[in-house]
Amino acid sequence: PKYTKSDILRKAQELDVKFVRLQFTDILGIIKNVTITVERLEEALDGKIMFDGSSIEGFTRIQESDMYLMPDYDTFTILPWKPRKGAEARLMCDIYTHDGEPFIGCPRGILKKVCEEAREMGYEFLVGPEPEFFLFEMDEDGKPTIKTNDKGSYFDLSPVDLGENARRDITLALEEMGFEVEASHHEVAPGQHEIDFKYAPALRTADNIVTFKFVTKAIAMEHGLYATFMPKPIFGENGSGMHLNMSLFKDGVNAFYDESNKETGLSEVAMYFIGGILHHVKGFTAVTNPTVNSYKRLVPGYEAPVYISWSSKNRSALVRIPAARGIATRIELRSPDPAANPYLALAVILAAGLDGIKNRIDPGPQTFDNIYEMTPAERMAAGIEDLPGSLKEALEYLSKDEVIKAALGPHVYEHFVKAKLIEWDTYRTQVHQWELDQYLGIF
Ligand code: ADP
Ligand code: MG
Ligand code: MG
Ligand code: MG
Ligand code: MG
Repeated sequence: PKYTKSDILRKAQELDVKFVRLQFTDILGIIKNVTITVERLEEALDGKIMFDGSSIEGFTRIQESDMYLMPDYDTFTILPWKPRKGAEARLMCDIYTHDGEPFIGCPRGILKKVCEEAREMGYEFLVGPEPEFFLFEMDEDGKPTIKTNDKGSYFDLSPVDLGENARRDITLALEEMGFEVEASHHEVAPGQHEIDFKYAPALRTADNIVTFKFVTKAIAMEHGLYATFMPKPIFGENGSGMHLNMSLFKDGVNAFYDESNKETGLSEVAMYFIGGILHHVKGFTAVTNPTVNSYKRLVPGYEAPVYISWSSKNRSALVRIPAARGIATRIELRSPDPAANPYLALAVILAAGLDGIKNRIDPGPQTFDNIYEMTPAERMAAGIEDLPGSLKEALEYLSKDEVIKAALGPHVYEHFVKAKLIEWDTYRTQVHQWELDQYLGIF
């Protein structure tokens, strides 16, 4: 670890910290805070701060509601946009039961467990995410709209693009919190942005994604904008994805790279990892694309993947192999969206890849053609299947995938599926505006 307990106590004093947020996520990936004053920081660092787990979505039953927060010291950072006099800091935490055991419902714990499995096989899992989001205006009541603030994107005489300014400040805040931001740019859709940060071990990246989302929302708010990670907020425009760039390192060397493979430059390990992903992707899509709305992004025509294939040439493939080799050799999974709980998403993807390595799953030939121009019959002949088309379908595939279920563990699996089936049922029984527009005047 980077920091010891006394490092943090000293830093807190030096930085004039008054409040400390102890952070974790629920099963759905929603960030939770238990805020303490600095007087209790030492107690917190010893893992002695308790909270009521029964109040958290998908956590626990009433009789086992006393949970403890065990901070990861290396996640200590101040929140740079808050006042510096009486500053606010945060720590990401693991959740423990009142018996002092790691809680099986803790998403961070689940990712740690699968990473440990990888470590036992000699691998470290490295991930670089490319999260996308929209910045929207708010109405008079402070509620988010889907109006964007881009210069010239709609009838607006304002000379400044509030979105660009907000993105600049988000980047600065992230850098102050220790992020290495590699790129940040406007995306294809109006009001849409992307910020890419440097790859890191999976647990750190999942922490970073959670942090990134809450920083983005907070800073956007200071600019009078609402940041949303909803996968497809506007019909007819690109949705927001979160491509995941991934590699395995063994003894400090990129295990996906094989110089001697003249055709692809990829190792056998990389091929089997891809094989595992393609084999299990239907089973883990409910986790990487967890909302009803996620499936409105996964449609043809908007740069999001729809079909299960891999390619080093084709940007439309589900798994793309970027051209970089050597230390930067990686695979890019293009289906996940930023509504996913990043701990659970990385856990199931890693479990799929490791299963591919263990069982030597052949990914089959890569596709060179533009899959979107193929007919359904041509795709079938090439053995290219579709991703699940709805949350319901994805949940059905999940229920049949023992590897993915095992990675989640029975507790999270049950609570996740229960919550998602309720979500699906609520959606399915609604009468949507589209139906009224389509049918009311005809029948
Ligand atoms: P794209 O070309 O898809 O837009 P970007 O350049 O936006 O890709 O993002 C590339 C991502 O890949 C960055 O997050 C970067 O840190 C990450 N990356 C680079 N090398 C590796 C590696 N060996 N393993 C995992 N991720 C990596
Ligand atoms: Mg990118
Ligand atoms: Mg790029
Ligand atoms: Mg992008
Ligand atoms: Mg990308």
